[in-house]
Amino acid sequence: MRYFIGNWKMFGVPKSVNILNKINSFHTKDKNRKKYRVIITPPYTLIQTYAKSFKNKKIYIGSQNCYQKEQFSSNTAAISPYMIKSVGAKYTLVGHSDNRGEGDTDTMLKNKVHFALKNNLKVVFCIGENKSDKKNKKTFSVLKKQLTKVLDKKFDKNNLIIAYEPIWSIGTGKIPTKDELEKTIIYIKKILKKIFKKKSPAVLYGGSVDGDNVKLFKEINEIDGFLVGGASKSSKKFIDIIKNYYR
Ligand code: PEP
Repeated sequence: MRYFIGNWKMFGVPKSVNILNKINSFHTKDKNRKKYRVIITPPYTLIQTYAKSFKNKKIYIGSQNCYQKEQFSSNTAAISPYMIKSVGAKYTLVGHSDNRGEGDTDTMLKNKVHFALKNNLKVVFCIGENKSDKKNKKTFSVLKKQLTKVLDKKFDKNNLIIAYEPIWSIGTGKIPTKDELEKTIIYIKKILKKIFKKKSPAVLYGGSVDGDNVKLFKEINEIDGFLVGGASKSSKKFIDIIKNYYR
């Protein structure tokens, strides 16, 4: 199973559902539809209505983040995994670099993953090195730390997906070389196999994925799918990624 996840970030109002309708009608007719799953993470404000609209369809709705406490608390504007699950989301991102940049620590991330899984949300855990890590050849040590500090062998690996998103690639149009990316995904899977006793969760790539460069990524068999930001806000661009991946 491969995954195409669209992360809308701070984008979307109720009528933006037409983007999902178009993706859904493409998916329904696509001869490859059984080979992949489409997940969209709209902002919190749209989760409930979209989850309802697509309840019996093959598009899954997720959250872009969750708070590090389980149910209810006195933290203003916080949204817990329990609350997200209660409005029909099936997935949540955790550890997106935008949120790490706003202060998410490894301890907070561990709590988020733990409480999300406990509330039956599947977790897409994001990791990735920044530009200076890459320049200083610290990519592998940074990724190892991000994985080992947060992921616990007791977490259910079947409900966990890892998204490798180099920060220098997000929204910049810059992508790793095929060789670099292949080595990095293999390394991430090696660490995951150590944590989870031989079996690695799915590992996705994210960072400026579009309908053109996906042709290069599809040559790397170890990549189990993609986390797409910018291009997921257009049904055509998102569908092109899927089409060109299977072409
Ligand atoms: C993202 O925000 O997770 C992302 C991958 O963005 P983009 O595709 O725009 O680089």
